[in-house]
Amino acid sequence: MTPSTHPRVVGQLALGAAERRRFTVHGILDRLGRARELARLDALLFWPSGDAAVDGTVRGFCRENGVETYLWLPVFADSGFDPDPEDLVEDAWGGRGADAAGAWPGLGRGGEAFLFACPSARRHLDAVRARMNGELPLYDGAFLDRIRYPSPANGFGELFTCFCPRCREREPEMTVWRENARDLRGRLGSASDADMERWASLHALFADFDLEDFLRFRVAALFEAVRGVAGQAREMGKRVALDLFTPRLAALVGQDYSLLCSFADWVKPMSYCFARGPAGIPLELACLARGLVASGNFSPRVVMEYLRRAFAIPELPDDPGQLERGSLPPALAGDERRRAERMTTVPVLPGFECVRHPDFDFDMRAEDVRGYVDALGGAPGMAMAWNLLYTPDEFLEIVAGGRP
Ligand SMILES: [Zn+2]
Repeated sequence: MTPSTHPRVVGQLALGAAERRRFTVHGILDRLGRARELARLDALLFWPSGDAAVDGTVRGFCRENGVETYLWLPVFADSGFDPDPEDLVEDAWGGRGADAAGAWPGLGRGGEAFLFACPSARRHLDAVRARMNGELPLYDGAFLDRIRYPSPANGFGELFTCFCPRCREREPEMTVWRENARDLRGRLGSASDADMERWASLHALFADFDLEDFLRFRVAALFEAVRGVAGQAREMGKRVALDLFTPRLAALVGQDYSLLCSFADWVKPMSYCFARGPAGIPLELACLARGLVASGNFSPRVVMEYLRRAFAIPELPDDPGQLERGSLPPALAGDERRRAERMTTVPVLPGFECVRHPDFDFDMRAEDVRGYVDALGGAPGMAMAWNLLYTPDEFLEIVAGGRP
């Protein structure tokens, strides 16, 4: 796929149990048809239901209407099967999955578990590849999601992963880094607001405790694992697209845009300014703030000031709760797109919340969608997240107005 032929308007369709209850096949095709007609949908990222007849009907509709299909494939979590508990990432304290400090209370309550397997867990990757072998022949491409380590939504301690036996065997320095991570957290316990003011960035905090090589190891281990999965899709003759954390937050989860994009046809940064779920900027930063407050003797106000500085987002409020309940200006998504474009040459198609979803406790308004479309003017394309079934016609028309 050459850059000039990447999709312009991308939609996402997830057919979970709730959607199968709420929508008939006719209803699903109706929403797809509206997206094609009003927003001139070029490509669909499809999280199939597992019902071969329904999924085949959706793909058939796309084929007949000139819409490219991508298998929406979550790689390290929610991959269509439960990861073996031994394959989950392990933090510096031996915990797996979630850490109490700052974790999002909604974690594990919805249809998605967000429990991450370790990039070195061969058994897990083999199962993902087996799924690709079975399903990917039915699609034009693979859309790789959850290609990362846990985020602040899993709790502060999960940023210090993975120290599982496989990773320790792979890298002898691991035992030193694990002590450094424990030191860091121990020191946070007795640190004060004055210490927090000393760290200009999160990177500076990690560097203070000799954890830079640990961060580099994570980036390399993730890159290698994702390269294997993407390589298999390529060998099958398929396109590859990536769902990545928004550039400002990508380093927190081990993602390096320039490395990961080297094997992608295009990339979708998740520059979500409203979403109250993992990858949403307000929620992730609120969880990080609470994790830091819970780990040290810091005042929430000083932590939020720190995050404003560390992530260069002056609009962050003084209180983590206020941040989580509120939103950030969609103009931030435009800034994130330009950041992404400085790190890669592949087309950047920013993803934004384009839904009125009954299962999420926020409501996008038409003016919010318009704010995104205005902020993303000049982008080579855009991706309507996360589920076209909940995208009203009004939103589709706004997207059509800003279609690249
Ligand atoms: Zn590991």
